[in-house]
Amino acid sequence: MSSAIWVVGSLNVDLTLSVPSLPRAGETVVGGQLQSRPGGKGANQAVACARQGAVTHLVAQVGRDFDTSWADRFAELGVQPHLRVSPTQPTGVALVMVEESGENLIGVFPGANAELSVSELPVHPGDLLLLQGEVAVEVNVAAAQAVKANGGKVVLNAAPAFLVPAEMPIDLLVVNELEFAVVGRDAAPWVVVTQGAAGATLLGPQGESQRQPGFPVRAADTVGAGDTFVGALAASWLTGQTLADAVRWACAAAAIAVTRPGIHEAIPTARQVADFLA
Ligand code: ADP
Repeated sequence: MSSAIWVVGSLNVDLTLSVPSLPRAGETVVGGQLQSRPGGKGANQAVACARQGAVTHLVAQVGRDFDTSWADRFAELGVQPHLRVSPTQPTGVALVMVEESGENLIGVFPGANAELSVSELPVHPGDLLLLQGEVAVEVNVAAAQAVKANGGKVVLNAAPAFLVPAEMPIDLLVVNELEFAVVGRDAAPWVVVTQGAAGATLLGPQGESQRQPGFPVRAADTVGAGDTFVGALAASWLTGQTLADAVRWACAAAAIAVTRPGIHEAIPTARQVADFLA
């Protein structure tokens, strides 16, 4: 049986408004297109793992308002959804504004994500757990401990940034530079710091540091670049690649994603990444 990735995390409805330029505080801008589609770091990263060919499960919680046809869309994208329904909270919402340059502003209402709890994860040795910062810290800690006890690996994308409790076992931490400043170096033996167009840096347990320059591309929409990076990194690591190779692969996957509009549809397949790197 091949190893799987378990993503325990958020699933939101993304309401995305395209604007000519992002508003400053107090300013109102009139947008063009408004789109409503499934998002959330958990869901996006699960789609990225699946598009990269990994057997992928998504454990998340939505509200009764959730459009169940979207669960079918996850299945079509290769993600096996394990969705719980909150009896009290509506589905989480992300309010996104994107300007033509690709820059964006995002506000998140956690909703049902904040009440996700994890009782059992049927994880096998060799499986990988992928976590983010959009569900309760206690859920992340419990899931990480359960997976480590079953011989799996834990990857944390600490976004949004939070202080990682010492009792949370993590093999690999992935953060952008702002998040790194909050989370710090000591949360995991291996850390990948993403640096936007500049690429990413891998930090190892012996103090080693390896830079991977970003791939020069014309950015159209950087929303979801981080999620594509994390999903591609996890999927590549799961196949037995070294972390240095997985970081290069993830930079290529994210570079492709920023050239395309949208989130899920912007995430490249493993074949497309291989062709890009060829
Ligand atoms: P986040 O969106 O989570 O803040 P980053 O902005 O660091 O994360 O982007 C994540 C990764 O996406 C980077 O490490 C890089 O590989 C890739 N990336 C982001 N923006 C660009 C860009 N303009 N050109 C090429 N690659 C990019």
